[in-house]
Amino acid sequence: MKVHEYQARQLLRDAGIPVPPGAMVESPAAAAKEARSIFAAGASRVVVKAQVHAGGRGKAGFVKLVSDEKSATDSATFMLSNRMRSPQTPPEGLEVKRLLVAEAVDIAKEYYLAILVDRARRTNTLIASAEGGVEIEKTAEERPDAILTMPTDPLLGLQPWQARQVAFKLGFAGKAVGQAVDLMLRLDRLFRASDASLAEINPLVLTPPTKDFPDGRVMAVDAKFSFDDNAMFRQKAIASLFDPAEENPLELKAREFGLSYIALDGSIGCLVNGAGLAMATMDIIKLHGAEPANFLDVGGSASEQAVTEAFRIILADPKVKGVLVNIFGGIMQCDVIARAIVSAAKTVGFKVPLTVRLEGTNVAAARRILEEAQRDLPTMQPATDLADAARRICAAIAR
Ligand code: GDP
Ligand code: MN
Repeated sequence: MKVHEYQARQLLRDAGIPVPPGAMVESPAAAAKEARSIFAAGASRVVVKAQVHAGGRGKAGFVKLVSDEKSATDSATFMLSNRMRSPQTPPEGLEVKRLLVAEAVDIAKEYYLAILVDRARRTNTLIASAEGGVEIEKTAEERPDAILTMPTDPLLGLQPWQARQVAFKLGFAGKAVGQAVDLMLRLDRLFRASDASLAEINPLVLTPPTKDFPDGRVMAVDAKFSFDDNAMFRQKAIASLFDPAEENPLELKAREFGLSYIALDGSIGCLVNGAGLAMATMDIIKLHGAEPANFLDVGGSASEQAVTEAFRIILADPKVKGVLVNIFGGIMQCDVIARAIVSAAKTVGFKVPLTVRLEGTNVAAARRILEEAQRDLPTMQPATDLADAARRICAAIAR
């Protein structure tokens, strides 16, 4: 699960990490009001930022630094009425419904700091760079030596000596070292306490020296978090940050019916029971020259209603040019699937080719149901086995 930057900033703030003040707004008028109060508190610049679950906003023109209320309003109006496109969004871009209006800080230097679940090392690893900012992806690719990695202890977490080593390697000096160390240790504690899978601060900034902070201040001005979905049962506060508007609507619908559904880019919709069988089905579709439009596991004991809903979800995807049903009836009974196919045919209609491979519990009853419903299923072809099903559906959509 991902959260918005304004929510991530609040998590950082609650963990004692310095973050410039600001608030989330949903209209140009509210943006103007927030900007006014930030200017009134003495700030010379305000930053207006689109709140979407994708990065690359700076380069896309969806992070704007402004020096007066009018420009804040104009930036807010632009962002709320244009879709944001970046290398991290789908080609059609994302609608912007929320903005963050915050005090803009002066920046002496931008750093990159992240903690992530490092599967290869079987622990959490801290990643840092003195070359933070909007070009970090390019830096990582062209100069991997500019990126520091510090694996942490899986039980004890990041140790103070490790944070100090990273702070010195990043080039922090004077009192900024202690600030950077404190920030890294707090971020690591927050990461572990919240079952995060990614916590990224880019840029982490050092501000120019002032009277109060002669070595500058270390602060977070952007934050991105992902959390482990399987831990949300014990992370009620984090789970409450969930924003359904940022999710794929078909994936949301699937979640409501307890289906595991992931939208993909291909053209063959798959309805399968069991994650392993679903993976094998996707493989065999590729083997026969087509691409799956989704991963869909209806599970071991879905009801006829849930399976009908699954078909509705698959058929709502305009990319779907054919549907392959692959069921191995164990606990799941083939006749439940057959009845769901008939019900989907009646309520939604299969306008695209459909091949069905059924095997296992109640398969004879299922075949009878499908035969009797043939008039409602003009595009259906029964298959003898999985390879036959894949061959048939790939041939049908190639026509
Ligand atoms: P992203 O492009 O989606 O990662 O958005 P960021 O929040 O990281 O902003 C992109 C860039 O805008 C940063 O790397 C900074 O250079 C600049 N920026 C963002 N916030 C501030 C700020 O408060 N002050 C200044 N001076 N620059 C900022
Ligand atoms: Mn950023």
